[in-house]
Amino acid sequence: MKLDATDLRYVTGDEFRVLTAVEMGSKNHEVVPTSLITQISGLRNGGVNKIIGSLAKRNLVARVQNSRYDGYRLTYGGYDFLAMRALSKRDSMYSVGNQIGVGKESDIHIVADNEGKEMVLKLHRLGRISFRTIKQNRDYLGKRKSASWMYMSRLAAQKEWAFMKVLHEHGFPVPTPVDQARHCILMEFIDAYPLRQIADIPSPGKLYSSLMDIIVRFARAGLIHGDFNEFNILIRRETGEPVVIDFPQMVSTSHENAEWYFNRDVECIKTFFRRRFKYESALYPKFRRTLANEERGEDFQLDVVVAASGFSRKDMKILEEYMDEVKEADTGSSDEVESEESEDDMQDVLRLSPKEEIDDSASVHSPPPFQNRSISPTASDEEP
Ligand code: ADP
Ligand code: MG
Repeated sequence: MKLDATDLRYVTGDEFRVLTAVEMGSKNHEVVPTSLITQISGLRNGGVNKIIGSLAKRNLVARVQNSRYDGYRLTYGGYDFLAMRALSKRDSMYSVGNQIGVGKESDIHIVADNEGKEMVLKLHRLGRISFRTIKQNRDYLGKRKSASWMYMSRLAAQKEWAFMKVLHEHGFPVPTPVDQARHCILMEFIDAYPLRQIADIPSPGKLYSSLMDIIVRFARAGLIHGDFNEFNILIRRETGEPVVIDFPQMVSTSHENAEWYFNRDVECIKTFFRRRFKYESALYPKFRRTLANEERGEDFQLDVVVAASGFSRKDMKILEEYMDEVKEADTGSSDEVESEESEDDMQDVLRLSPKEEIDDSASVHSPPPFQNRSISPTASDEEP
């Protein structure tokens, strides 16, 4: 998915208003009827049609012909636009640079603020795998037939944000969180290599124990990373210190499968060090010992702190069920999994503010000087 900075500069106030109307209309409509878009936007009928046409041409919305009516849905591009615009309006970010990563469920870009300081923008992309395979009897979906890519992507971003903030505040080695909007997170750019790219290190034992220490510190603070592997551990170029990223799947140590998740994290590190560095150690953390009272060093429970920070247990549960089911669908028969953007609705209400407030020309500006710089992993370096 390309992020087009050019588009961002050329969207007018009215176009933005119409795009926002499509997003709002998506709350109750898979396909938002043109008449509803006109009504929400508060613009003249003729004007709206022309604007929708131009948004569709730039793939910010897509026309959908329904059996009952014609209408539009927001695309990933449109949602990206709205999120980036929110970030740029708050002066959190100013320009978009290279894409440095494509995960199955996220895109990573280098961006900069207006002083040229580089940051990382992570756009969550849940729903690349069709939701149609996901069981449809979930309570949380209410009357809606299927989960929404927008809703799930936003939940993932909110969860990651909540965890990153709390971890950062408590001195864990994670990127400094900068801002969050819709399905996006803005964070510190870490000048680092992912561990998976490192062929050789002077003292693997030292890194091994600092990684195991992090697992232990997480657990003593009530948390398990859940995806603690060579893809989500960055090694700082300057100091060789590890930085942990990627938190949407973090679970509490009170989760029913906590021990299993904990052991899997430990096992990932053991296996990687054995294969890559031929390093093995008899020492590795055990879940129960780590959590035994007399050994606990931390007096805080971060899973509780996160729950209190606005990302509720209910949100956590919804996201977890979604992720589990995608995993199931993913490992199931391949013809069950279609790769498509689903055009479903979104959960929350975005309030369209009075016209004068949103009608502005603030935008993300020209590409920064580092546009051509690339720190991307080599082509051969793909996830297995
Ligand atoms: P995903 O959920 O798709 O796995 P990650 O958060 O793990 O996304 O990021 C994917 C890749 O992007 C990482 O492996 C790393 O190379 C790069 N990356 C992510 N965040 C940062 C950051 N803050 N600084 C530098 N590189 C990053
Ligand atoms: Mg990752």
